[in-house]
Amino acid sequence: MIIAANFKTNHTRKSTKEFIKELDYFLRLHDIDDTVVIFPPNTAYDNFDTDIKLGAQNAYHVEKGSFTGEIGLEQLNEFGIKTILIGHSERRHILGETQELISKKFKFFSKNGFEIIYCIGEPKEIREQGIEAVMEYLWKQFDNIDINYDRLIVAYEPVWAIGTGLTATVTQIDETLNLLRDRIKAPLLYGGSVKVANIKEILTIRNCNGVLVGTASWEIKSFCDMISISKTL
Ligand code: PEP
Repeated sequence: MIIAANFKTNHTRKSTKEFIKELDYFLRLHDIDDTVVIFPPNTAYDNFDTDIKLGAQNAYHVEKGSFTGEIGLEQLNEFGIKTILIGHSERRHILGETQELISKKFKFFSKNGFEIIYCIGEPKEIREQGIEAVMEYLWKQFDNIDINYDRLIVAYEPVWAIGTGLTATVTQIDETLNLLRDRIKAPLLYGGSVKVANIKEILTIRNCNGVLVGTASWEIKSFCDMISISKTL
């Protein structure tokens, strides 16, 4: 299983360091073989004394240059970061990233050998129209994306379930992941208000290969509890 934590705009450099130290201790103590990935804020990147995989929440599709406020490949290389989130709904819907920009990022970071967690998800009004509308919407989010890229992981994250406390039902997740699986060979994650209380039922869904967790990952105890539950499955 893949268990990924998206810190978004939370945690400082100091608290990230403490989090990773505690997490590293927990993973060793319990001999966890799940793949755990942490996406801290950029300011918290460091050369941590751990094997835990660190990823970038976002980066611009350049090695370096004049792109105020962005970071590029050079800054990620400094910390050995080779995993990136692309297409997260907050970047699509709040920061205004278009499919064109997203596909440029995908091309650049795949060419540079990154593991890419590629996020897709439909807004509420599309979900309300039924599964056909949902799939039509989701497939459009693969425009100019190489679904056969060998370091691809796809995260299905319904927009209406992210950070809202609303989780898609097991039936909705199961149906959507099954339909994605028809065309996508890559591991499939679910994200959207995953927490201690629901991770077990989500991880037992047939085509679910892991979870991308926001809010419930920010507190070390809750994140470790979710990893413990995953271990029992
Ligand atoms: C996310 O940011 O990818 C996410 C799933 O957030 P949350 O768990 O808070 O819904």
